[in-house]
Amino acid sequence: MGYKSGSYENQAKTIIKNLEKRNMKGYYCENGKKALELVKTLLPAGALVTNGGSETLVETGIMDLIRSGDYAYIDRTSAKTPEEARALYGRIVTADYYLMSTNAITRDGELVNVDGVGNRVACLINGPAHVLVIAGMNKVVPSLEDAVRRVRNIAAPPNSIRVGAKTPCSVTGFCDNCQSEQCICCETVITRRSRQEGRITVILIGEEYGF
Ligand code: SF4
Repeated sequence: MGYKSGSYENQAKTIIKNLEKRNMKGYYCENGKKALELVKTLLPAGALVTNGGSETLVETGIMDLIRSGDYAYIDRTSAKTPEEARALYGRIVTADYYLMSTNAITRDGELVNVDGVGNRVACLINGPAHVLVIAGMNKVVPSLEDAVRRVRNIAAPPNSIRVGAKTPCSVTGFCDNCQSEQCICCETVITRRSRQEGRITVILIGEEYGF
């Protein structure tokens, strides 16, 4: 084991213990391949599965799995009109499994996420029966203050480019604390505890994924 992966594993052990205090379950996988295998074991055949936008899910192959596996997959991008999008969202919030990453996770086990419209953070908070959060160790930060800084300055600028939002950070690469029409930082959610036993599972991966 390399020094970096050894350190990642140590950090993950700390975080997993702290997640347990917050009524969330944690796993550590050395790499994306192992995380993919773990997700396969966690998703029952036939489950109604959907996801929030996430580069991590794409890069680990988990998107391909949920799209093509033995699940009832809801494609959140399939709506063609606002009415269809609203009806689709009604199905999404009743899914069996919602998969997403997190913009940051603290050593104490708090998840920090920022959204534009808020559909992803809403599903994290309540709705889908289970939430699987898959995150590379690059998302780990020491404190909540560091998490907010990470989200605004490391995660949001490339995310802005990914979703094609016309924001200052998509041009300069730095947060300008904007009030743009297409701002992707409208809702900041700190998940400090889950009230529902067994609902939120966090899978940490000892590699860098997403941003
Ligand atoms: S510039 Fe706007 S969209 Fe970009 S990170 Fe800052 S608040 Fe978010």
